[in-house]
Amino acid sequence: MDIATLSTYATLFATAGYTVVLLVQFFRHSELKVQLRWFLGFLAISALWNLILFLYLTDGVLPNLFFLMMLAGNLVLGITTSYYVDWSNRRRWLAAGSIAILALVLLNMFQPQTSWPGLENLVIQPSWGGLLGIGLWLFIALTLIGRTWLSYRATRLPGHANRLLHWAFSLLVTFIGEAFIMVDDPLLLLTGQAVRFAGVVGLSRALSSHRLFDIQARFRRLVVYAIIVAATFLPAGLLLWGLFRLARGLNISSFPTTALFLAIVTAGFLLYQPYLRLVHYLVNRLFKGRKLETAQIVRRYSQAISRTLDVEQLAHVIIEIINGQLDIRRGALMLVSYTNHMYTIEPIPALGSLSHQKMTYSTGLSLLRLLAREHKPLLQYDVDFSPDFAAFSTDEREWLAEQGMEIYVPIVSGEMTAGLIALGPKHSGRAYQPDELELVQMLADQTVVALQNARLYSELNEQNEQISKLNKDLLRQNERLEILDQVKADFITIASHELRTPLTQVKGYADILQDMNEEQDLTREQIREIMSAINRATVRLEKLISAMLDASQLEISGMALSFIPSKMDTVVQMAADPLLLAMQERNLKFEIDDLAKLPPLHSDFKRLVQAFSNLIGNAVKYTPDFGTISITALPVPSKDDAADYVEVIIADTGIGIDPEYHELIFEKFFRIGDPELHSTGSTKFKGGGPGLGLHIAKGVIEAHGGRIWVESYGYDETLLPGSQFHIILPVVPPAAQQSLPAAEDILTPTETNGQTDWSARVVSLDV
Ligand code: ADP
Repeated sequence: MDIATLSTYATLFATAGYTVVLLVQFFRHSELKVQLRWFLGFLAISALWNLILFLYLTDGVLPNLFFLMMLAGNLVLGITTSYYVDWSNRRRWLAAGSIAILALVLLNMFQPQTSWPGLENLVIQPSWGGLLGIGLWLFIALTLIGRTWLSYRATRLPGHANRLLHWAFSLLVTFIGEAFIMVDDPLLLLTGQAVRFAGVVGLSRALSSHRLFDIQARFRRLVVYAIIVAATFLPAGLLLWGLFRLARGLNISSFPTTALFLAIVTAGFLLYQPYLRLVHYLVNRLFKGRKLETAQIVRRYSQAISRTLDVEQLAHVIIEIINGQLDIRRGALMLVSYTNHMYTIEPIPALGSLSHQKMTYSTGLSLLRLLAREHKPLLQYDVDFSPDFAAFSTDEREWLAEQGMEIYVPIVSGEMTAGLIALGPKHSGRAYQPDELELVQMLADQTVVALQNARLYSELNEQNEQISKLNKDLLRQNERLEILDQVKADFITIASHELRTPLTQVKGYADILQDMNEEQDLTREQIREIMSAINRATVRLEKLISAMLDASQLEISGMALSFIPSKMDTVVQMAADPLLLAMQERNLKFEIDDLAKLPPLHSDFKRLVQAFSNLIGNAVKYTPDFGTISITALPVPSKDDAADYVEVIIADTGIGIDPEYHELIFEKFFRIGDPELHSTGSTKFKGGGPGLGLHIAKGVIEAHGGRIWVESYGYDETLLPGSQFHIILPVVPPAAQQSLPAAEDILTPTETNGQTDWSARVVSLDV
């Protein structure tokens, strides 16, 4: 069989070969990934393409179909590549490809036959369509190889990069094969078939297996081998050549010549071994880098880490030593802790930027368990491409991918992974070699105890901090309790003062009344005066007792409220009315915002008036003459823009309150200052009281589902920083939601029985 026939039949073999690859791929994978499906298409087209070529070579038929199939194959290969390399613009490829094929078909329809000078050397003479096909073939080949190469250059992780290099290389071989096939030369056709088939097998392997050999490493080994062979052969060759030259010129049988020959050969043998060793040494130094002194590194490593107790510091020491050997871009120690069925992984970056964010995953089917079992470094490349990892949670895998590390070395303690040493790619871009992986695993094994110690130490530190914080809290609570204790002690003093004053008054007036009555010199006027003084004292007594009752009710059963829709302006008006005269006397300016704008509140009207009365009363008491008291309010919009709450602020320009007491003043019987000073009147400046007003106000506001707090820069009787009491009230308190009354029940002075009736219902209760 001559070579031309052989090359013709080679196309049939190629058809069979591509079909076999197709079938193997099809049956090998239970689930076909998209890229693999496209690739199967490419294989089918390749088989057909060769069949068409065979038909043409034997019968001269269908010449134009050859170029059409070639273009279709290239396009499908383009789409496969776009999936493999993960490009986004696949649709554009498809659209442009379809247009190209259409153009080619149309051109072939209208101009099926043309011959071009200079293209006689092609296996099939292209028509216009064929020419377009060849042009596009060149364009696609260059684009695919070029773009894959660029992606390869942009990829930092060597495993990932190697995969792309594999693809680019296989594409190059495939296209070179195709170029050979197109030339009208049986030998080139035969070679082209073999080359293309090799390229396609390379592509097929890259697609179906994640275990691809390291192209760069193989290439380096090849170069090393070539250099060693050349360097070994060169001196031996030169010597032999020299000896032949010498032998030709001299009489070989003479003694001195034989001796010279022998001497040269002996010297050659003696020098050859050291020379070879030198060559090996130089080549190794040049291409393989320095050798790892494992024992020495491990010794240095364990010495360094045994001195470290802080986790952060430990991370730095570990990564620094590894970096000294491997020259890596980034590295971190990752701490792993377990709580029922979950594990938390916390990165501690030591080299390069990395987030500190902790992540928590389920321990169910976790990578960590696998790591502890396998006890060897995990390669990010395997996590991304190996089918063994496909079953693990995507969250976990994505998180690992985000870290940009190349390997994760488990620090295994018993059955558990206690931590990971995460190492990024090397600066050289080379993949981690087996001896390096072994070394880092050895270092990780050395780390277990140091890591446990460091963690215990940091936990101890944390606990210490917590204890000292608790101590501080306790101290604060203690101080508060001491104050409250004092308040209790003061209560007796206050209560006796507060109760005794009006009682003494009643008693005194009653005595006077009795004495004067015995002497019978009482006028009617005097009787009325004495009676009204007694009356005032009893009213005061009654107020005090009712406030005490309110306070104790708050304590026992909370506050029982009955809700009706009430308007805020009415509440404030009712609360302020009894104080207006006193404000006038003491020249206090009283400003009220437009409260009518607020929505009516579902509230216990009487209680709310009581609370506001206490607050306004306090503002009067603790603001010196000529000061200002103002009441402002605003609706507090909730998320859906409905005014669900209102905020009322009662501000004064008074003496202010020390921040230390901002919470305590709401406690029962708490008052700032000397408990011996009893109340000198409910409206006088610094008039004092039993310390119940704010406690009751707070009880009322909270029973409405609201909140009250005070803001003040501090206490100062000369600078008068003032105080602002903030009250937030819900428009409809949670407790009132079941029994909302009708809108017409809203109490306003005009709508109902008017001012007089109000006062009958509402009692001002400030004491
Ligand atoms: P009291 O009956 O003593 O007024 P409160 O419970 O109403 O009791 O108030 C407790 C303490 O809070 C008061 O003794 C006073 O020192 C302080 N206080 C309350 N309101 C004000 C205010 N507007 N300005 C300054 N201090 C105030």
